Amino acid sequence: MNCPDCGNEQTRVIDTGASADGTSVRRRRECQRCSFRFTTYERPGWESLQTKKRDGTIEPFERQKLRAGIERAVEKRHVTEKTVTGLVDDIESELQDREGRIVSSSLIGELVSEKLRTLDKIAYIRFVSVYKAFAEPEEFLRELDAVLDAELDDFEASTDSQ
Ligand SMILES: [Zn+2]
Repeated sequence: MNCPDCGNEQTRVIDTGASADGTSVRRRRECQRCSFRFTTYERPGWESLQTKKRDGTIEPFERQKLRAGIERAVEKRHVTEKTVTGLVDDIESELQDREGRIVSSSLIGELVSEKLRTLDKIAYIRFVSVYKAFAEPEEFLRELDAVLDAELDDFEASTDSQ
């Protein structure tokens, strides 16, 4: 969705609602370059998010599946329901704000692992070990080492931060 004013491709959705007749989605957008604001109307059928899986099949995006994947990763960790909900909200809105209506499952995986990495290192490792098909076992071990090193740093730093 290019900015009608300056042509810039980066626009941000600032408000979403139904059109007056209810047949389409009204989006208020703001250009990230010139801050020009404009409104678009999009048909919901076309607008709903689709997920493209690794085998190439496309299916409707399901928030529940996203949540289930995250819940599996944070099981028995000190992560609250509320935090999980916030995480799912963040990821979903990042996906909704993208221009494309089809997102690859690997992109979703990247977003989830990025967030889990800062939230809980163990959950992160659990998640990537399931979703990321590491080509080489060494690659996974390197990743694990990097995370454990960071964990140790966090632990050492936590004495004055908590
Ligand atoms: Zn602009």
